[in-house]
Amino acid sequence: MSKKILVVEDEKKLVKILQGYLEQAGYSVVTAYDGQQAMTAFRHEKPALVLLDLNLPLMDGLDVCRAIRKTSSVPVIMLTARSEEADRLIGLELGADDYIVKPFSPREVVARVRAVLRRTEGEGQHGETLAAGEVTVDLMKHTVTASGQAVDLTPTEFDLLAIMMQNPGRAFTRLQLLDGVQGEAYDGYERTIDAHVKNLRQKIERDPKNPHYILTVFGVGYKFSEEL
Ligand code: CA
Repeated sequence: MSKKILVVEDEKKLVKILQGYLEQAGYSVVTAYDGQQAMTAFRHEKPALVLLDLNLPLMDGLDVCRAIRKTSSVPVIMLTARSEEADRLIGLELGADDYIVKPFSPREVVARVRAVLRRTEGEGQHGETLAAGEVTVDLMKHTVTASGQAVDLTPTEFDLLAIMMQNPGRAFTRLQLLDGVQGEAYDGYERTIDAHVKNLRQKIERDPKNPHYILTVFGVGYKFSEEL
């Protein structure tokens, strides 16, 4: 049975486009054009994931997300027009699982939906594994393989890889990556991330000079490729 995605967005044209791409990717789609419809649809349709626009008529995306979280841990991906807004959302610990900044490509949305579903399905089961191309990461055992070979990563390299792999296609700034690396003494130098990424590429890329997995996003930072 195909997984049901609830798309909440008041721009009907955008809803149509997203619906088309999601259905082509094998999901079934239910739609809502305002916050109240969203809550009704959520209760009746029991979706596997909610794509939720922030600016909605009647009840905005924040309130919808809060209302959903009162009764459910369903994955929620927020759609927002401004990245500063998105940062604030995450700061509010709203309980959203990811966010996508407009304008986005529908392809990217499908990749994020897939990634979030994969990630949330793994939770609570026997250990979570991330896999992309020839790289696999076991989050419980803290082990990594690349091209079938075990790879020895430092704790910082491991955290960096896991953060990026959990969000394929999402561009992270160096500061965001630095914040996400646990156990690393914060030394205030965002550029230390470059050194860690370089080492990581040496260990997991077939050709570290032409990386296939960890890509540089010029002017931003790094991302894990969504096209593998
Ligand atoms: Ca809107």
